Amino acid sequence: MSVQEKQKINFAFRDELNSIAEGFRHNYCYQCGACVADCPACNYSESFNPRLIILKALLGFREELISADSEIWNCTNCYTCSERCPQDVRPVDVIIALKNICVRDGCAPELIGSVSGAVLSSGITTKVTSVSEKRREEHGLAPVKEYPVEELRRLLEDE
Ligand code: SF4
Repeated sequence: MSVQEKQKINFAFRDELNSIAEGFRHNYCYQCGACVADCPACNYSESFNPRLIILKALLGFREELISADSEIWNCTNCYTCSERCPQDVRPVDVIIALKNICVRDGCAPELIGSVSGAVLSSGITTKVTSVSEKRREEHGLAPVKEYPVEELRRLLEDE
């Protein structure tokens, strides 16, 4: 459904989003579009638009936003939109809150599972192989350091 079509506001979804960390900020959006102007994701994707994502969150387009195919996954988390927004909406934080609902509800893209698995096992998002280590050495880069992932695992156990 497009945002131009008549839509009954889904207040339950607004409340749900309000309850997730930083999810309440969409309520301050007045649709100026400043977040769109310098967004790098908007430059490579014609359909990605942070202003529209915030509007859909306000109207309660839950099914469209909370899915593995949602536009939210095109956000690169660069925070440019948050720097531009005159209302301190921090669109990227709202998008992260939407992503967290997707993960909680088991409807995130498969890739997210492998990335978070890599973070849990090594503390970084990509797998370090002997080939990548060799390449780093060739380029004069220090070996990838080991991160204290036990702390991360403990945090998850405490939840
Ligand atoms: Fe809404 Fe802020 Fe984007 Fe303007 S810059 S459309 S207020 S999120």
